[in-house]
Amino acid sequence: PETPPPPAAVTPMMAQYIEIKAANPDCLLFYRMGDFYEMFFEDAEVASGALGITLTKRGKHAGDDIPMCGVPVHAADQYLQKLIALGYRVAVCEQTEDPAEARKRGGKSVVRRDVVRLVTPGTITEDTLLAPGRNNYLAAVSRQRGAGADGGDGFGLAWIDISTGEFRVAASDAGRFAADLARVAPSEVLVAEPVFADPELNAFWRGLPMAVTPLSPAFFDGATAESRLTGYFAVRTLDGFGAFSRAELSAAAAALAYVEKTQIGERPPLMPPAAEATDGVMLIDAATRANLELTATLSGDRRGSLLAAIDRTATGAGARLLAQRLAGPATDAGEIAGRLDAVAWMLADTGLRHAIREDLAAAPDIARALSRVTLGRGGPRDLAAIRDGLEAATRIAGRIGSGDHPPVIATAAGVLATAPQGLGEALAKALADDLPHLRRDGGFVRDGHHDGLDEARKLRDESRRVIAGLQADYAAETDIRALKIKHNNVLGYFVEVNAAHGERLMKPPLNARFIHRQTMANAVRFTTTALADLEAKIAGAGERALAIELAVFDELAAAVEQATATLRAIADALAILDVAAASAVLAEAEDYCRPVVEESLAFSIAGGRHPVVEQALRHESQSFVANDCALGPEETGDAGHIWLVTGPNMAGKSTFLRQNALIAIMAQIGCYVPARAARIGIVDRLFSRVGAADDLARGRSTFMVEMVETAAILNQAGPRSLVILDEIGRGTATFDGLSIAWAAIEHLHEVNRSRALFATHYHELTALSERLARLRNVTVRVKEWQGDVIFLHEIAAGAADRSYGIQVAKLAGLPASVVERARAVLAQLEETDRKSPVNTLIDDLPLFSAARIAGPAEAVADPVVAMLETIRPDDLSPREALEALYRLKAAL
Ligand code: ADP
Repeated sequence: PETPPPPAAVTPMMAQYIEIKAANPDCLLFYRMGDFYEMFFEDAEVASGALGITLTKRGKHAGDDIPMCGVPVHAADQYLQKLIALGYRVAVCEQTEDPAEARKRGGKSVVRRDVVRLVTPGTITEDTLLAPGRNNYLAAVSRQRGAGADGGDGFGLAWIDISTGEFRVAASDAGRFAADLARVAPSEVLVAEPVFADPELNAFWRGLPMAVTPLSPAFFDGATAESRLTGYFAVRTLDGFGAFSRAELSAAAAALAYVEKTQIGERPPLMPPAAEATDGVMLIDAATRANLELTATLSGDRRGSLLAAIDRTATGAGARLLAQRLAGPATDAGEIAGRLDAVAWMLADTGLRHAIREDLAAAPDIARALSRVTLGRGGPRDLAAIRDGLEAATRIAGRIGSGDHPPVIATAAGVLATAPQGLGEALAKALADDLPHLRRDGGFVRDGHHDGLDEARKLRDESRRVIAGLQADYAAETDIRALKIKHNNVLGYFVEVNAAHGERLMKPPLNARFIHRQTMANAVRFTTTALADLEAKIAGAGERALAIELAVFDELAAAVEQATATLRAIADALAILDVAAASAVLAEAEDYCRPVVEESLAFSIAGGRHPVVEQALRHESQSFVANDCALGPEETGDAGHIWLVTGPNMAGKSTFLRQNALIAIMAQIGCYVPARAARIGIVDRLFSRVGAADDLARGRSTFMVEMVETAAILNQAGPRSLVILDEIGRGTATFDGLSIAWAAIEHLHEVNRSRALFATHYHELTALSERLARLRNVTVRVKEWQGDVIFLHEIAAGAADRSYGIQVAKLAGLPASVVERARAVLAQLEETDRKSPVNTLIDDLPLFSAARIAGPAEAVADPVVAMLETIRPDDLSPREALEALYRLKAAL
């Protein structure tokens, strides 16, 4: 931090800089100087390092050189993007008056400057800074002590995409807000300083993969929250928007206050906050999202993710909607069926679908253009985007027409038909064909649209011709062939004749027209009233043309703003149609089927495939082996089944587990699925424990991560959940791991009663099926051929006979001598194993009893009973038995 020296030591400009910087200590300050944004002091050092630009110096401050670096204004966006991606915040400080004004004030006046906006990861609007197919959310999390449904803390979540105007809120609680936040996946999270600093939560905030901005609690102040919201939306009450909890209101108000703070006076056209029902989406925690690679692979690429594999949308808005649906699959069977009906409709008529998709591809991003225009940051191309979007809307509405369409299609077409024709025509009439990027470049209003503009342009563009005409007139009038009209900066336009002719023009009658200005060595210069008029006109023409264009722009922008609600509805309708059409394209290209999604506990997939692996294998000309999966309760059953999947490494266990989870997700976003047939009872919560990514950043070992995730599942999963567990217990010693896996399966079966898939390499676990009625053993088949293993990738009933680890190791290229030696060691071990106690475990271990543990709704078991449970009388010496009795008595 800089300590300002005595005023005398700094130039007025530096004094201004230091003052503005002091008001924005947490931002890099882009300080406008002419055609550059300059940075000084520490900012310059940070930015030059981050951006790889040269660090120079400018003047001295307190005896030291002032470090400086700068970026040209015209290329500022790309530098901003880099800084934001690196997690910096930037305050953009502009000159707010003409430098001439400052000079007029005289003395040591500096040009007035002000910060016009703060650029933070969550508040970007520029096309160049935004990914077209991704929302850019700013989220606020509020905490309400003791307001949770379970008596714990209540949490409120609000999220805004200022580039599209979306504004949503949801109530959450301590148990699920991490999952809710992972679903929204904002670029920036706002949280009150005390909540950020809370020792219980601080590690969580610091571990988040996005910018976290702690704010003064005033932003979250419950007392002013409502009035802030009603003020922004100019309504008397929020009742019209729905009912909000205090935590929701506080989060919404904080997000809004932050938007106002960063936009400094500009109000983005936000939709009123919409409360989202927390039970309206399938809850998927952050680890499961990451492990299933829903929107990005574990290494962070979009390529290779489920989203990349299924996204065939034609527009950015469509891609965003698909990503939103994928982040929070629906849990309402009716809504899902509605979306699937729309896909089926799109599938029915290939020609119509192609035509609609072509129109969509020509429809630009209306929502984002609209936001920029309303924020005063729009350019001519944003207006054109709205023009083209309206045109596409009208065309698509015409193509769909009225008829017996499914409700989703009919509703969307109805909205598109409301496209304001007047606005579309006004834009089409006013805008030129080739458009500049910026308003101030001018030239975007079509010729013939505005008389004054045409005249101004004519004057400007044809000034040569006009002057040439005048020159010919004067030459004829004076009979001086050598008469020329010239231009310089001192006189402007003037008539020039040689010295010999000069005399004549200074005498009557010609001196009535020609006014003497200057006599040179061999030429005399004159002006005329006509020329002076022309001069003034030409000089002003450029400026006037631009002023008229800007006025036309403002008029059009105002008309666009007037139509905000309609335009937004149209943008949404286009996105909905895009997603439906894209899902149809996907279903057709990939041979997917329409799933049945219903209010039951069914889960039966016939011929299921893994959507991502299948596409990857196709690139290598290999085919994917389809597999069935049935986890639903059979006719009589009241709970889901667990499939225990065994098989060698590389057989396809993980792939099978994941594909079934992905099929459930795809079905619930309203997409066709990679299967021959699928019937799925709504999954309200998806749990997974797959992969083995170390979370070293948070100081947890692989095993610890695994146990934390497993604990979360066993504590929370219910009958409507889908659980996939891959190789739990692997990270520790064999017997520890086996025991944990064993106990986890019993718990899942008896307490959670979820539909579950459990892959393991502990063959001993297959014995559990003898006593757990809803546990099925399946195995991924392999064939052995001449000492090698061949993977069939086929799921079949039964248990794997062996693990084939040595064959797999051989395939991997382990030296032959090592493979041979391993075979010998294995033979020895297997001999010992036959006598091992593990193989008799199932006979010796008492049955797991659900009553013994506290089920979610039950009271905690009596401690005395719990102690009794642990006592094994046969194992106790008489003395130990006596001690146990005393302990029991003491516990009463
Ligand atoms: P495991 O979990 O049993 O070690 P994986 O599920 O990781 O095995 O599968 C290993 C590889 O086998 C995958 O990368 C994939 O290429 C291939 N594979 C898995 N399942 C199938 C299948 N059903 N059809 C074709 N190839 C498959």
